[in-house]
Amino acid sequence: MSMPGASRKMTVNDMNLAPRCTATSKRTGQRCKAPAVKGKKVCRFHGAYAGAPRGEKHGRYVHGMRTIEMKEERKELSALLSECTATVALISG
Ligand SMILES: [Zn+2]
Repeated sequence: MSMPGASRKMTVNDMNLAPRCTATSKRTGQRCKAPAVKGKKVCRFHGAYAGAPRGEKHGRYVHGMRTIEMKEERKELSALLSECTATVALISG
């Protein structure tokens, strides 16, 4: 008996290769073991979609100058600038 689409069917082995949820159960103390959401460490039941969306999808997004990436960039530039200032001060005096 052959079923349509049987060749495309995911095997048990393929499913086991998926990254697992790292959450631990409060009741049993064991790992969740459910497949983790793509790009996340936890499954859909354990907060993979928690929090507000990042970037332009965030409800408070206005101009992009206060995103996490921009804040980090400003921090790096500020550190670089103070390093340059310190070096110039060291050379000149
Ligand atoms: Zn989980």
